[in-house]
Amino acid sequence: MKSTGLRLSYLILLFCSVFLSRSTAQDVPAKNRSKPFSFPPQLEMRVPFGPTAFPNGSNFYLIYELYLTNFGASPIHLKRMELLNGDRSGNAPVLSFDSLELKTMVKILGNNNLKDALNIEAGQSAVVEAKTSNKTGFPNNIIHRVIASADSLDGAAINTHTTKIQTLKPPVSGSDWIAADGPGNSIDNHHRRGNIILGGHTVNSRRFAIDWKKVKDSVSFSGDAANVRSYFCYGEKIFAVADGTIISATDGLPDNIPGHGKAFHPAVPLTFEKLPGNNIVIDLGDGHYAHYMHMQPGSLHVKKGDHVRKGQLLGNIGNSGDAREPHLHFEVTTSSKLLYGDGIPYIIDHYRLGYQNGFDDVHHNELPKEKQIVDFGNARER
Ligand SMILES: [Zn+2]
Repeated sequence: MKSTGLRLSYLILLFCSVFLSRSTAQDVPAKNRSKPFSFPPQLEMRVPFGPTAFPNGSNFYLIYELYLTNFGASPIHLKRMELLNGDRSGNAPVLSFDSLELKTMVKILGNNNLKDALNIEAGQSAVVEAKTSNKTGFPNNIIHRVIASADSLDGAAINTHTTKIQTLKPPVSGSDWIAADGPGNSIDNHHRRGNIILGGHTVNSRRFAIDWKKVKDSVSFSGDAANVRSYFCYGEKIFAVADGTIISATDGLPDNIPGHGKAFHPAVPLTFEKLPGNNIVIDLGDGHYAHYMHMQPGSLHVKKGDHVRKGQLLGNIGNSGDAREPHLHFEVTTSSKLLYGDGIPYIIDHYRLGYQNGFDDVHHNELPKEKQIVDFGNARER
């Protein structure tokens, strides 16, 4: 008896709810009916390490990574991205990237070869390798606006002065230096694409790294390509960029025979610790560390714990560790540990840029960009 009564009650309730919902829908004019509720696009926007604007020529630059993860069940198609002024109410856009520009900066994580990286499938993540410039500098605070499919989303607030900009002396002297794979966003820039997971989070110690090589008529050597001594920069002196304490100084690894691609055969099997070859790390203060890599065996003039003065001789350029031809890999990061820190920008007190007629374009307190050819003057001038 009891169960039959309950069943009857359910039937009455079901009938009432169907009847009521029908009559409600019929009574509300079409124009007043609201869209069914839905959350905003389920796109996580994250900048793990905030940028710092740096000067080069007549512009200021920002280089950083924005990570996007689609937490929703349908694809999100990126159409545009705007950087909004976070210092002003109304958040006026400071800069915007259309889909063509975004295509050069966005990568789906785990798949570098996708033709349409602007389509982030459900559960996928992408990285926006952002690079932008502005003549007048940037607001202190920037908010990202992602225009995706039929919707837009504001988020990922960043500060444009995350770290202090240190003024450094050049790490080498003389002319004909090329800032190979230096600060920039070229598609073949291997430092820029150096984001890896270490300690469970993403870092890019090489974001502003420069491979300093010497070039004459656009080539870095003359004669036998398999001899380190054929390279114009081999054996060049390396200097302390600032006063500081030597955190580590590692010597004893042999030079590799130069060779690129399949012709690269490191002199010793590479391990994580051996990637930098013979190397020096200087504590610059403020949590900044200068890393010098691939030095010539037996050339180190300093040891762990030494205090060095800016301009002091540290050693010579070699071809040790993960180096395919002689060069100085130089980077400033937030960690004394190899690859564990985030690469940060700095400025060099004085250099001249190379043009066809020589090196007469003087620059003060700027950071050279990728592929720029630089004259640092001789050690006496500095
Ligand atoms: Zn390098």
